[in-house]
Amino acid sequence: MSVEDRINEIKKIIKYHSDRYYNEDNPEISDYEYDQLMLTLKAIEKEHPELITSDSPTQRVGGNAKRKAGVLVKHNVPMLSLQDVFTKEEVYAYVNKKIVELESPTFVVELKIDGLSMALRYVEGILTVAVTRGDGIIQGEDVTENAKAIKDVVRKLKDPIPYLEIRGEVYMANEAFDKVNQQQELLDKKIFANPRNCAAGTLRQLDSKITKERELSLFIFNIQDIKGIEFKSHTEGYEWLKKQGIKVIENYVKCKTADEVWNAIQVIGEDRGNLEYDIDGVVIKIDNLEEREKLGNTSKVPKWAIAYKFPPEEKETKLIDIEVSVGRTGRITPTAIFEPIRLCGTSVSRAILHNQDFIDDLDIRIGDTIVVYKSGEIIPKIKSVVKEKRAGELDRFKIPGICPVCGAPTVREKDTADIKCTNPNCLAQLERHIINFVGRTAMDIKGFGTAYVKELIRFGYIKDIADVYSLFNYREELIEQGIIGKEKNTDKLLEAIEKSKGNEAQKLMTGLGIPSIGKVAAKTIMNHYKSIENLQNASLEDLQEVSDIGEISALNILRFFEDDKNCEIINRLKDYGVNMAVEDLKQVDNRFDGLTFVVTGTLTTMGRNEATEVIEKHGGKVAGSVSSKTSYVVAGENAGSKRAKAEELGVTVISEEELVNMLK
Ligand code: NAD
Repeated sequence: MSVEDRINEIKKIIKYHSDRYYNEDNPEISDYEYDQLMLTLKAIEKEHPELITSDSPTQRVGGNAKRKAGVLVKHNVPMLSLQDVFTKEEVYAYVNKKIVELESPTFVVELKIDGLSMALRYVEGILTVAVTRGDGIIQGEDVTENAKAIKDVVRKLKDPIPYLEIRGEVYMANEAFDKVNQQQELLDKKIFANPRNCAAGTLRQLDSKITKERELSLFIFNIQDIKGIEFKSHTEGYEWLKKQGIKVIENYVKCKTADEVWNAIQVIGEDRGNLEYDIDGVVIKIDNLEEREKLGNTSKVPKWAIAYKFPPEEKETKLIDIEVSVGRTGRITPTAIFEPIRLCGTSVSRAILHNQDFIDDLDIRIGDTIVVYKSGEIIPKIKSVVKEKRAGELDRFKIPGICPVCGAPTVREKDTADIKCTNPNCLAQLERHIINFVGRTAMDIKGFGTAYVKELIRFGYIKDIADVYSLFNYREELIEQGIIGKEKNTDKLLEAIEKSKGNEAQKLMTGLGIPSIGKVAAKTIMNHYKSIENLQNASLEDLQEVSDIGEISALNILRFFEDDKNCEIINRLKDYGVNMAVEDLKQVDNRFDGLTFVVTGTLTTMGRNEATEVIEKHGGKVAGSVSSKTSYVVAGENAGSKRAKAEELGVTVISEEELVNMLK
């Protein structure tokens, strides 16, 4: 691959992740991983400066302003990014260089809050506009209404001046973040991965009531422009802002030497876990405003400041226990239970230990001090054991030779590190199997919660998936015993069970619980075989012909249908009238003939798949992306870039309710 191709490839990857981060508020990789990509690109560009283009991510501020939250506003003063450094040497080099250039300047070391940038404009002391960073140079999104719902946003200055523009970081404190996620969980809505995404998503949406409910906060970190009063330094400006009731970055430290700066960074780093909000580093700034002016900016960053980024957060804690649980496939999974710690904004106390080999390699023992981090800033993982802190002789941990649920022997699977329970009728497997079967990705039986599954198994009504459809025969008994509540509740669930018989066969396929066959594979297989019956007759070679179905999946399917017990279950399901075949969509009418829809966001009365089906049944087409050929965009809650694109192209955006009305 030529250097140019390599550069283009990295740029493409960076652009993708930068769009997910800035415009969708939904990153896929950790900031650390993103920074590594940028560093690689910078290193190659440094060696080949002739290949640097003006649109390279190294030359531009991250996002671009999409009209997600409101109209676009032109920037009066650019909202630039910061040059990142990652090592002590880089900090010393920067500070010492400035000491030479500016003759003993004062540096200010500040917390770098992990949120999103917003500028506030005051005319004659009154807040008029709030704008996000957007593309940083030309325009950002108008978020004035949402900003007004933030308690830290001062609407009126105590000492009005003709004009003031200040810039700060909107963030969500850990406590507020926990509350939002608890609420989301309760409403069965998307859980936010970390406070930054949640803050960004909350500021950049259209309903200011949501902003108010979710409690955003703000620290101001710069005066962008001011008329009517002058300051010599950044910190003098801070003191004046404080008098106006404005919350500026707290606990900033003034320094004169590189040692002092590094010391301040260390102190902040050590205290990082005790803060009520997330920081991802510190910012080192020149205090004197004339000196700042002298240094100026590049097209992307000011030359009078740098950001030192902390390495990914990790913490020590104590391993209290190793819990062993049994999965739906009988796989035994050990989980580390440790004293709760806070990492990347959430409290964590558990991490998967995978298998015996993993435990042995780490040499992890109950009572050990362990180092925990979050992979991709999301999934808790154990990095290492601090052996020096091991108190005396601790026992090595061995996964028990018997299943913790049914007591049957466990075996190590050939060629894998997995340990499995040997009892196919193990209650843990059955419980999870049924939960999967009635769950959303499989038969989607509304109202069939885990508690009912457990009780129906306990009372002996369910011994396999087919028994779900025999429940109707026990209606009176069930009502009498109150297992699913009284008459009304029981009938409601029985009705939902009845309705599920007509599901697409791929849902049943997912519910069969064949190892390695999830929703996507089930769909591929059913599209290919059209019926469970055809699939039952398929050979290994046939199965391997299906695109995306590998050898292991093919073998698992084969083994499943070779088992007489499974075939008997399938026959009973068939007898109960459960749909076993892929039906070609039946056309209802042609009212949407010639129309193309795009469905985006979360719909409340139907899933996106359901919406697609309904549209297609009425003659319409459903596309994955918005173009000028799109007739309607159906936008549910939290509709993101597709909605913005539709508005940009002038495509009509309709709500879920409007779609339903069109169907009446
Ligand atoms: P940045 O986050 O490195 O620094 C600039 C920002 O820091 C400013 O815009 C400002 O809003 C903020 N800030 C917070 N406290 C501040 C203070 N006291 N003084 C001054 N500014 C302060 O740069 P960026 O351009 O916003 O974003 C780049 C970073 O975003 C990357 O380094 C990466 O970590 C992250 N990112 C991650 C992904 C991903 O996929 N995970 C994608 C894109 C960007």
